[in-house]
Amino acid sequence: MRIAEIFHSVQGEGEFSGTPSVFVRTTGCNLRCWFCDTPYTSFKAEGLQRDWQDVLQEVLEFDCLHVVLTGGEPLLQPDLLPLAHALRQQRRIVTIETAGTVFRPVEADLMSISPKLSNSAPIGLNRWEQRHERDRNRPDVIRQMLQASPCQLKFVVDQPADLDEIVQYLRGFPEIAPNQVWLMPQGIRQEELAAKGVWLAPLAEQIGYRFCPRRHIEMYGNVRAT
Ligand code: SF4
Repeated sequence: MRIAEIFHSVQGEGEFSGTPSVFVRTTGCNLRCWFCDTPYTSFKAEGLQRDWQDVLQEVLEFDCLHVVLTGGEPLLQPDLLPLAHALRQQRRIVTIETAGTVFRPVEADLMSISPKLSNSAPIGLNRWEQRHERDRNRPDVIRQMLQASPCQLKFVVDQPADLDEIVQYLRGFPEIAPNQVWLMPQGIRQEELAAKGVWLAPLAEQIGYRFCPRRHIEMYGNVRAT
């Protein structure tokens, strides 16, 4: 599997926000969101091929209960299946962070799905515009994920108008409870996250969704771990 980085930090988003975790960041993505905060896993993919057993060993050395398998799009990597299984055998709590466009029957304690809205379209990348638009919305994949694992849905919100699209999107998933839905401000700088949080937090509360301030950026800024 191709790995961009493995590091220990604090989960900044969603149900396990504030929880110390080991992050395994795979490299490679089938989308090209303009706001991608890990371009070294998508636009300019970096990282070496490693055996999943080698990755497992490095993760276990942190002696940390929570493990987050993220990307890029981690579900593009077939070796995610044996890695997630082995981690759970070792009693680790496994979160998988995905855009919800690829299904694999992988074990997870929490599938953290971030569906990409029309506001994610790449800018000035002719080769990717059609492909991104074709692949970003896979409700069939998300339905499979909902049946396979406990799930949360996280949406990146850039402008108040994005809320209409989210509400409309979720009408297609009546099985998703409002408290499984997290709204995150778009941004990679603390100031822009804070400014968007001013209007997004009350809007989320009004609808019954949860507001996700992206605490890892508040705490550390948008810096790479390695
Ligand atoms: S799905 Fe995630 S990793 Fe891929 S381009 Fe979009 S934000 Fe970046």
